[in-house]
Amino acid sequence: MLRFKVVDEAFNRKALPVEIPSERPEAYYGKYVFNRQKMFEYLSKHTYEALVNAIDNKEPLPLDVADSVAEGMKRWAIDNGARHYTHWFHPLTDGTAEKHDAFIQHDGKGGVVEEFTGKLLVQQEPDASSFPNGGIRNTFEARGYSAWDISSPAFILDQTLCIPTIFISYTGDSLDYKTPLLRAINAVDKAATRVARYFDPEVNHVQSFLGWEQEYFLVDEALYSARPDLMLTGRTLMGHESAKNQQLEDHYFGAIPSRVEAFMLDLEIECHKLGIPAKTRHNEVAPNQFELAPIFEETNLANDHNLLLMSLMAEVARRHNFRVLLHEKPFSGINGSGKHNNWSLGTDKGKLLFAPGKTVEENLQFLTFVANVMAAVHDHNALLKASIMSATNAHRLGANEAPPAIISIFMGSHISRILDKVESLAAADLQSLASKEGISLGLTQIPDIMLDNTDRNRTSPFAFTGNRFEFRAVGSSANCASAMIALNAAVAAQLKQFADAVDARLAAGEQIKQAVLAEIKALITAHKAIIFDGNGYSDEWKAEAEKRGLDCETSAPKIFDAYLRPESVKMFSETEVFNQVELEARNEVKWEMYTKKIQIEARVLGDLAINHVIPVATRYQSVLLDNLYKIKSLFPAEKSEKISAQDMAAIERISDHIAIIRSEVADMVEARKVANRIDSEREKAMAYHDNVLPHMETIRYNIDKLELDVDDEMWPLPKYRELLFIR
Ligand code: ADP
Ligand code: MG
Repeated sequence: MLRFKVVDEAFNRKALPVEIPSERPEAYYGKYVFNRQKMFEYLSKHTYEALVNAIDNKEPLPLDVADSVAEGMKRWAIDNGARHYTHWFHPLTDGTAEKHDAFIQHDGKGGVVEEFTGKLLVQQEPDASSFPNGGIRNTFEARGYSAWDISSPAFILDQTLCIPTIFISYTGDSLDYKTPLLRAINAVDKAATRVARYFDPEVNHVQSFLGWEQEYFLVDEALYSARPDLMLTGRTLMGHESAKNQQLEDHYFGAIPSRVEAFMLDLEIECHKLGIPAKTRHNEVAPNQFELAPIFEETNLANDHNLLLMSLMAEVARRHNFRVLLHEKPFSGINGSGKHNNWSLGTDKGKLLFAPGKTVEENLQFLTFVANVMAAVHDHNALLKASIMSATNAHRLGANEAPPAIISIFMGSHISRILDKVESLAAADLQSLASKEGISLGLTQIPDIMLDNTDRNRTSPFAFTGNRFEFRAVGSSANCASAMIALNAAVAAQLKQFADAVDARLAAGEQIKQAVLAEIKALITAHKAIIFDGNGYSDEWKAEAEKRGLDCETSAPKIFDAYLRPESVKMFSETEVFNQVELEARNEVKWEMYTKKIQIEARVLGDLAINHVIPVATRYQSVLLDNLYKIKSLFPAEKSEKISAQDMAAIERISDHIAIIRSEVADMVEARKVANRIDSEREKAMAYHDNVLPHMETIRYNIDKLELDVDDEMWPLPKYRELLFIR
């Protein structure tokens, strides 16, 4: 039987050797990246300076410079084995898109020359009519353009020069994640710089930083191939819990299995060659679950690196006979995977704006930025939830092991107490914000918390962790840009309001510190409802959050509505991140993607139920029936009834489960048909959520029960206990 064959294959595999470079990491780090060092080497002094100037000052690149850059970049790429180039962009689906072209042009003599011009480097017109666009391209113009994002360096992957690009329509509307991310980063730069200058007039720019922590599962390739649900949907649609899973918490602290260690080492080396600063790797809570985290970087670059990492992982996993699962909930009953987004702002003078300091100015600045984040997250809590919501992440949020489907901020008891004190601080007491160690206020010193992580609350979707905020509700398969766009834009809009209010006070003759303090106090009073340090999984919190007016919606298609609320449209338009057309188009795509994901899962589940599970359950039932007849014919009635009572009960149970599965599959198919006839993408997604999903749950429940009854020898699909424990 196939199941035993693949289980054998998987369990007998040994760790594979990893090709370790002979040099130290410093020597090969960034080997395949066209970074400043390579630019300097391959470009003329004039071109190098023009390019660096354009990057640093966010200025457009003149076409003649682009031509010289293209020439140098091509030489570098060919020297490093590249044969093709591609504009690498982030469409509104998961992952990235590429269209490869060879570096060749006709030479006019019947042959070819290797050529790559500035025009090809800077702008392309990929045949992209089949990327989701929510109707933007249809309405306006059938073309989409990709244009070089000079702030993220080109790199070589699989002998292809990859040029990070934005993807926009002819009218300039964004069709990707990168364009609005760059706009949001600009918006927060502008607004935060204005505010940071109250404390340090020398500040020219504020950068947004992102440090993601990528969680994932590994499954042996043979077992994966024997599970059509994993192959087609990325998660198991059925499977009874293993008797042992994560109860003993032995995986989190356990040694990394040697096969996995080889994979991790291989991946880390590949990351470093591509300039991804991978640093931390460890086991996660669930069996077969792991995490990789790099050192944080500027947000746009960090996000490119995360997307690159996700494709790299898939490739390296295959080398080690693994498949990597990035789905947020591949297995029920054990933890799902997220991608914590550690986020902060920092000035070009090297100051992190969410880090407390020792002087009045430093701590006033710290409180200013923290209070503005509180306000932004409070005002836009529904939107932030929408930014991390998807058909796949919906399985994780709200379950009893992940952030709840309510956005609140965990500040920790120290900061919470400080905010309380500041709310009633008199201007004359400003000096209490300074001490040798940090904010005094007669409280435990702030620097102490940075060393002390015991105060961490794992149930919070958005937590302050010393010098940054950690947005934990982001899904493992998500493009971080979605969350980073909403967060940076919301904070930018809030900081602008703050600066306007402070400027008005200054114009009225107030002192700067007093003006800032007055506005901080107002923000704390108006927005402390977003702070919640308690247990986010508890039912009391749901009731309390509702009372506080926080968004408690749990249906993904309805959560997406938050993008179209007037306050969101206003905020995005003020920050110039999205116009209304883009927002509407994007929501169409979100609803459509939601529907398609559930539709595919429902089809796969229906097939598995009817073609895999029911035939096997029926066969086992006949074995029991056959046995029953034999007992009846051999033993006297009184005795046979006693012997066969349990068999009888099992036969009945199996019959009941089979009957329910059959009728539920029929109902599910019917619900799909009804939903498919709906024109509106929103209504269709809601129909899938409300009317299709519940059938899937019932079908799964009954299949999982059958798994407990049916002979193990007959069960066709690898079981959880086989999938989840790598030898
Ligand atoms: P934990 O798992 O305890 O949350 P990790 O060390 O695994 O912590 O991950 C922390 C992540 O946060 C890393 O990617 C790290 O680079 C990042 N990080 C640290 N400081 C900042 C900061 N100021 N801004 C953004 N990210 C940060
Ligand atoms: Mg973390």
